[in-house]
Amino acid sequence: MLVKPLWIAIFLIQVLFENRCFLVDAVQLGFDFHKFVMQWPGSVCTLEKCPEVWTIHGLWPGRNDGQDPNIKVGNYNETVIEELKNNNELEILWPSLNIKNKNEDFWKHEWSKHGSCAELGFENYFKETLALAHRYNITGILQQNEVLENERTKVDAIKQAVSASTGRIPIVKSKCIKNKKSLYEIEICLDKTLQPIDCVEYTFYPKVKQAGNPNAPLQLAQTNENGCESSINGQTRIQMSSPFLLTILLWHCCVFFKT
Ligand code: 5GP
Repeated sequence: MLVKPLWIAIFLIQVLFENRCFLVDAVQLGFDFHKFVMQWPGSVCTLEKCPEVWTIHGLWPGRNDGQDPNIKVGNYNETVIEELKNNNELEILWPSLNIKNKNEDFWKHEWSKHGSCAELGFENYFKETLALAHRYNITGILQQNEVLENERTKVDAIKQAVSASTGRIPIVKSKCIKNKKSLYEIEICLDKTLQPIDCVEYTFYPKVKQAGNPNAPLQLAQTNENGCESSINGQTRIQMSSPFLLTILLWHCCVFFKT
């Protein structure tokens, strides 16, 4: 008898977790600056044929306190996207590099998570982002400076090249792929009028808990010689993927109450 309401509870809690904006909407958070984010296909692309140039990840409004802005205005507009697709710029400069996502899914995601908080309006958000990709031609900048992306980590050289071209300090991110650091993204920071500013890099040290010992103090994650995270003393790291774990937990409660 309790099963039905519990399933409804599971569903509602999951929806709330996955759409954090419902939970934090009480506090309206505007934004302070934008980040124009380019991604390197060499590290993220799962398509059969990957681009050989840097492509757009998105234009993300950000806050100085590190929180995500949540004042969302406007819905995804397929008609505008169809018009913008006319000259193929969107597909070429802003493709989804994930074989599981269509381009439209990626644009929709970028709009609903980031663009709708950017106070630019739907059409302008996409137009301005494309314009930024022309203004900051990362592939060209790196070629001019003879920085080759396929060399795994050249973070400092890339930072220097981009900062010489924009006059401001960017963020260059690498990602651990198969336990080795690979170049991943370049972020150029912009003020609200889309003029370049220095980026401020926040470092969050991942904390880990020892498996089987819930009372042990949290420890800093250890990294291997490539700078990638490794387990503590061979023990497994406990990772909390909240909606997923919550569903499993509630499922167990459900079975418990039923029996
Ligand atoms: P974001 O990093 O913008 O918050 O989230 C990116 C989301 O878009 C992820 O869920 C990812 O699976 C999806 N996605 C689709 N195509 C791409 C892509 O080309 N690059 C990245 N980074 N994410 C993509």
